[in-house]
Parts: sequence; C-alpha cells; structure tokens
Amino acid sequence: MKTGILSVGQVPREIPLELVHALPKIFPDTACSVIKETLTIPADSLAKKRNQYNSSVILNQINAFAANNVDFDRVLGVIDVDVFAFGLNYVFGEAYTPGKAALISLWRLRPDFYDETPSLSIFVSRAVKEAVHELGHTLGLHHCEKVSCIMHFSKSIFDTDKKQSLFCGQDYLQASLAINTLAQPP
Ligand SMILES: [Zn+2]
Ligand SMILES: [Zn+2]
Repeated sequence: MKTGILSVGQVPREIPLELVHALPKIFPDTACSVIKETLTIPADSLAKKRNQYNSSVILNQINAFAANNVDFDRVLGVIDVDVFAFGLNYVFGEAYTPGKAALISLWRLRPDFYDETPSLSIFVSRAVKEAVHELGHTLGLHHCEKVSCIMHFSKSIFDTDKKQSLFCGQDYLQASLAINTLAQPP
C-alpha cells in the first residue's frame, strides 16, 4: 500500500516524519512518504459559530487530491486545528470506509490540551494510533468491540491511550487481504 502523508495547513514537521517511520511497521506491504505539497485548509470548512472546522469538507478535498494522484493508494491528511463531524462535538479523524482518503487532527492529541505535562512521545504515539485507525477504515474496516484493538472507537483521549497501535488478529487479517487486493495488477 503506497501511502502519502499530506499536511493540511501548518503542521509540526516531526509528525509526518514519525508517521512515515511508524506506519510500515504496522501495515503489511506498505511504503509511506511525506507529500511535498501542502493542502490549504478549505475556507468553507470553518464553522465560525463553533470556531471549529468541518472534517468532512476537508476530507472531501483530500479525496480530490488523492483521486488526481496515481502515485498513492491512500492519502492521509494531517491537520492541526479542531475538527468536528456531523452530530459530534469533535473528532480525532475521519476516513472513507473504504476509500483513498483519511484525515487526522492533532489538535486534541497533545497532553497539554488536557492540562497534562507536555510529552512529545505521548503526542507522537497518539498521532500514530489515530493514523492507523483512520487508514484501517480506508481498507474497509469498521469499529471493533475489543478495547485494545486499534479499530476500537475513541470517544475520548482516554480510549485512545487504552488502545494498542495494533490491530486484533481478525482486523489484521482483513487489512492484509485488502492490501493484497491493492497489489494486484489491474
Ligand atoms: Zn473510527
Ligand atoms: Zn479488532
């Protein structure tokens, strides 16, 4: 699975680099690289009243980028603003299930957001977990009941911290099969 990491607006440099390093260790047969271009945050994604951005509008733009970019099977957008989706106060990310595009937001992943001591390693580990989860959705995986599985739904950061950055056996199998299908010549 050829995966590109796309910054949407200003994003701390180290996060895309850490993702490029971490994701191929978790997904089988996967190569990952940072896309040089940066996507501008779509102006119409800002919901002024709530001072948050609509993740579905942004995801749509990432999908358009992915559709025009044959070099990648999947494009993961990384954004550093607060995002929400319809019916939810906030989300850590969103993805097409299945599809080519995914998005994660770093906004609520820093320990200092929760008045905890700043920690780059915790910040990075949360970003990796959210990235694996959303890319899992793009491979057709749905939410998993197992609390430790990366496909378990995170209602809050506590759920994210409880999960491993790994799939349960069944989800790993499904992800591997989906990645295998990508590798088939057309
Ligand atoms: Zn999910
Ligand atoms: Zn699972």
